Order: sequence, then C-alpha cells, then structure tokens
Amino acid sequence: MGYLGAPVSTLSPPLRDLLGRALRDLRLSVTDRCNLRCHYCMPEREYVWLPKHDRLSFEELARLVRLLVPLGVRALRLTGGEPLLRRDVPLLVAQLKAIDGLEEVSMTTNAILLEEQTPALRAAGLDRITVSLDTLLPERFAALAGRDRLAETLRGMQAADRAGFTGTKLNTVLCRGRNDDELESLLTFAIERGYELRFIEYMDVGGALAWSSEAVVPRDEILERVRAHFGQPAALDTDPSAPARTFALPNGGRFGIIASTTAPFCSTCTRSRLTADGLLFTCLYGTQGLDLRAQLRGGASDEELTASLTRVWTQRRDRGAEERLQDPQRGTSVSKADLRSNPHLEMHTKGG
Ligand code: SAM
Ligand code: SF4
Ligand code: SF4
Repeated sequence: MGYLGAPVSTLSPPLRDLLGRALRDLRLSVTDRCNLRCHYCMPEREYVWLPKHDRLSFEELARLVRLLVPLGVRALRLTGGEPLLRRDVPLLVAQLKAIDGLEEVSMTTNAILLEEQTPALRAAGLDRITVSLDTLLPERFAALAGRDRLAETLRGMQAADRAGFTGTKLNTVLCRGRNDDELESLLTFAIERGYELRFIEYMDVGGALAWSSEAVVPRDEILERVRAHFGQPAALDTDPSAPARTFALPNGGRFGIIASTTAPFCSTCTRSRLTADGLLFTCLYGTQGLDLRAQLRGGASDEELTASLTRVWTQRRDRGAEERLQDPQRGTSVSKADLRSNPHLEMHTKGG
C-alpha cells in the first residue's frame, strides 16, 4: 500500500524539473557534526555549527519524507556530517522504513561508530551501507582525517558484514600526492572482501578550500591504472541516473567511478538534499535552500508543504558541476568567509 493507504502503483508520476529530470532521491543530512576532520571536507580548526534547537525532530523529518514520496522520492540516504553521531538514529531508520512507497533507506558513514550500532540499524531495517575509506594506513588516516581512527572504521565494516548487511560499498576520494598511491591496494582490499569500491573525484564543494584541478585524479587516469594492474575493465550497463559508472574486472571484481569533476552527470541528476535544520537544496553547489523548518514550525499544512516542495523541484534548473567544468579558471566554489557566514554551504552540512 502507498501513501495515505493508496496502492503504491497509483502514486502520481514523479515531479520533473525544467530540464526534465525526475525527483527520485533524497539525501537526508541528520547532523552537521562529525568525529573526523577529512582534509577535503572539514579542514578548519573551528566551525560554526547549526543550533541544536533548529535540528528537525525525527517526526518532522518523517513527515517531510512522507510528503516527498508521492512527489517521486523512492530512495533515501542518511548522511551528514557523521550520521551515526545523531542519537537514536536507528529509531529514525525504523520510522522511515514504515513509509509506504519508499523503496530504500541507506546510509553513508565513516563507520567509526558502526560496530556498536550495527545490530540496532539492522533491526530497524536499514537496507545498505556505504563506508568512506581513503586509506589503509593508520598514520595516513590520522593525517588525512585528523584523527587516528582507522581501526574503528575497519571494525565497523566487519560488524556490518557479521550483522548480515550485503551490498556494502566503499567511497574513496583520491587526492594526488596524498593517497593516490593506494589506488591498487584499496581496490584489492575491497574486492577481497566483496565490497564495491567507488572512486570519487575530488570536488571543490564546501570546505574543500585547498582544492585545485591538479589534486584531482581524473576518471581516465583511474581507469588506466586499474587496467595496468587488474586487466581491462568492462563498463557495465548501470542506471543512468546513478552517479557511479560501474565496471567489471577480469578477476570478477567490480568497482565504480564517480566522475563528479571531469565528467559530471547533472543531466540525469535526480537528487534533492535536506539539511539537519530543514533546508532543502536541489544541488550540491546550490547556495539557496528552501526553508522547510520555518514552514513546519509555522504550522503549515501538508498541502502547503507539498505546494512548496512541488514549486522548488519544478523550477529547478541546477547544473552545478557542469557549470564548474565549463569555467576552468574559476577558483574554489566558496571562500572561507562565505563558509563562516553561511554554514549551509559546507559539504558536511548539505550532506555529500
Ligand atoms: N561522514 C560520512 C562519511 O564521510 O561517509 C557522510 C558524510 S560525507 C560528507 C559523504 C561523502 O562525501 C563521503 O564519502 C566523502 O568522502 C564525500 N566528500 C566529502 N567532501 C568531498 C569532496 N570535497 N570531494 C569529493 N567527495 C567528498
Ligand atoms: Fe566527516 Fe564525512 Fe566530512 Fe569526513 S567526509 S569530515 S567523515 S562528514
Ligand atoms: Fe546534481 Fe548539482 Fe551534483 Fe549536478 S552538481 S549532479 S545538479 S547535485
């Protein structure tokens, strides 16, 4: 059965934006806090945090998701910041899993707190987990992420396997001169354990203030190095709206590349993003979010909220990463001063 008791098959077709792109996915950033300080995301010593009282409650979040499903959303990914820092996140998972018509609830996490939370997440019905892992070297982990927590991340992944999670993916941001020498060892590690690793090109979003095009390891270079080490990768037919292009290797392994910087996929982008304090963004590069918290707490009806959500998606024309590619001389997308005055521009606030 679907929303308000209607069979799912009778749900209206998804909303389409001005470029014809359907609304299908929601990234839900449940907190802007993090227990790591990855150099490409949170390189500063201090941050301006979202006020705690602005954070949407689980009931408010579930209400918005319930309204977004009839508009097209089918898959939801919990992210942050570090989503496992949000207290009782398995309770939120359970509330989301009870929403008719929502087909998948997944999570992207650095896995530091995963070991202790896996049983509750599994019991709540979380479908899949993606773990971010940029190095297998403890000292380098501390250098890249500001804290020496590699052992906990690895234990978290093992705990997820033991608890019965399947289809676990790894996200690796390769940065030249920092961890690109581990491309082969990270992929070997993933293949041996049955994880699908996706290499993500370094993006100039939010706190990536040290970004430069030279630091990006582009898709073509990744493919060439994989070919030299593992043999010719064969491109698989994957969902064109998925950010990763997936490849099979002669040894049976699979991996993906998310070429956000050199080959952006804006033309098929079906993703919306909700910050922990209720701003809806329709692009990772967006600077203006729709303030749903003000509406929720101002007593807006479901019809009024649905009208706002419909307006924002049907007026969407974002192509942030494509525009960035067309303007190679552009510096990083925002300045340190912009980030201080508007923390919503941070990747760890918007949700990567
Ligand atoms: N803390 C969680 C984690 O790291 O998995 C979830 C939030 S994090 C913002 C989500 C993803 O964004 C991570 O896989 C991270 O590697 C990626 N990310 C963050 N900053 C990035 C950047 N500048 N370029 C590319 N990917 C980035
Ligand atoms: Fe935290 Fe994830 Fe950003 Fe790293 S990438 S600082 S783990 S939010
Ligand atoms: Fe979608 Fe914006 Fe990313 Fe392009 S840059 S793929 S429009 S979120």
